[in-house]
Amino acid sequence: MQLSLKVAMCHELVNSCGLDLSSGLESVPVWIEGKVGKDELPKFQYFPDNVKGPGCTVDPSEVTLPGCSCLSHSCVAGSCCCLQTYGQAYDSAGTLLDLRGSHAAYCTPVFECNALCSCGDACSNRVVQRGLRLRLEVYGTKEKGWGVRTLEPIPCGTFVCEYAGEVIGFDEAKRRQLAQGPEENNYIIAVREHAGQGPITETFVDPAIVGNVGRFLNHSCLPNLFMVPVRVHSTVPRLALFAGRDIEAQEELTFDYAGGYSNPTPLELSIQASRTDALQRKPCHCGAQNCAQFLPLDVSILNF
Ligand SMILES: [Zn+2]
Ligand SMILES: [Zn+2]
Ligand SMILES: [Zn+2]
Repeated sequence: MQLSLKVAMCHELVNSCGLDLSSGLESVPVWIEGKVGKDELPKFQYFPDNVKGPGCTVDPSEVTLPGCSCLSHSCVAGSCCCLQTYGQAYDSAGTLLDLRGSHAAYCTPVFECNALCSCGDACSNRVVQRGLRLRLEVYGTKEKGWGVRTLEPIPCGTFVCEYAGEVIGFDEAKRRQLAQGPEENNYIIAVREHAGQGPITETFVDPAIVGNVGRFLNHSCLPNLFMVPVRVHSTVPRLALFAGRDIEAQEELTFDYAGGYSNPTPLELSIQASRTDALQRKPCHCGAQNCAQFLPLDVSILNF
C-alpha cells in the first residue's frame, strides 16, 4: 500500500514538474535535464510512433504485413515464416546481429513479428515495437543546442530509440524544406532503400511538429548510433537507431545525419538516410577527429 502510494506520488511529481518529455506516452520517462523547464524546449507534440502526414499514402499505424502462425514462446528460424522470409535480425537477447550499418553502406532490411503473428510478446523477433526501454535525457549541450544523452550504459547492437514523426510524401517534404528559414532546423529524414537495380523506396519522416525523443539527437561525424529501417506491422519502415558500439552512461547519443551510403551492389540493400540543413551550411561541433566541419548538406530532396 505504502509502496504503491509512493509510486503514484512519484508519477505525479514527474508529470507536474514536466520532467517526462513524453508525458507518460513512453513506457519509461524521457527525462529532461533538471535545470531545464519543459517550456524552454521547442514546441512540438510528443508521440512515440510514426503518424500519417500529408502526402503519405499508407497509414503507418495500419497492419499491412502478413504474420506467422508460430505457437512457440519465441520464433525459431527453422519453422517461422517471418524469419525464413526475411532472415533473423536479432539474437535471442534482442541485439541486432548485422552491425554493418554502423560503419558501412549496407544493412539487411529488418522485419519484426507483428500484430498478425501468433507468437508471444516475448518473441525475440519483437524489439523496436516494444518501444523505449532505456533511460535517456534531453539536455542543453555546450555548442549544439539540445542533445540527448543516456543515463545508463548501452551495449553495442542494442535498440535505443526511433526517429519517429510525421510520415510525409515527397512533395510535402520538398514544400516544407523550401519554406524553412535559414535559422530553422530541418528535421526531415529521407530514407532511400534499394536492392541492386531494383526500385527505390523512399520514406520521409518529419518530427518537427509531431515527434519523439529522436528529434533532439545531434549529428556527429563519428556517431555512436546508426539508423536501420525496421518494419513491424506496416510496410512503412520505422527509423530505428541502434548502438554502433558500447556506450557509457552520460555519453551524448548521436547519429550521422547523412547516413551510410555508397554504390549499391546487386541484391544488397543500400540505405541512405539523410537529414540535412536545407540551403545554408551550418558548422558541425561534434568534435570528432574526422569532423567534416559542417553539417551534411544534401539538396537531393530539392533536386528532384
Ligand atoms: Zn515471432
Ligand atoms: Zn514466427
Ligand atoms: Zn512472425
